[in-house]
Amino acid sequence: MEPNQVNYSINHAGAFSNFGNVTEGMIKGKIFLKESLNLTSMEVSLNNLPPKGEIPFYHKHQENEELYIFLKGQGLIQVDGNEFEVIEGTSVRIAPDGVRVLKNTSASEDLHFIVIQAKENSLSQWVQTDGIILEQPVEWGKSVK
Ligand code: ZN
Repeated sequence: MEPNQVNYSINHAGAFSNFGNVTEGMIKGKIFLKESLNLTSMEVSLNNLPPKGEIPFYHKHQENEELYIFLKGQGLIQVDGNEFEVIEGTSVRIAPDGVRVLKNTSASEDLHFIVIQAKENSLSQWVQTDGIILEQPVEWGKSVK
């Protein structure tokens, strides 16, 4: 590690239920994290689709797969003409070429979800092979920020 190297970035986006007041990019209720966190291997967005809200266009990707992780609410996701119900706890992976769209099917509840996009087939190591457990005791409270 270089001296003075900062090994972290933090974004406090606030409550998902307040994202409807934020306009960033094309879609209201969507907060992208790549720039604020200096992400280098993925783009991540935090999303709130309001009751009966719909993404108004189909899209696909050139080289990134997408992972949709649903945290709250209920909706429908459509991929290549196939529709799937999504609820809290549902995760959906879509290959770059998949033609996709999403809507909130609830009349009263927001749909909260996270989208992670990363280059397809780029992952070479993960939990068991990339993580290193260190031989130092865990301490808390030394530098609260
Ligand atoms: Zn996308």
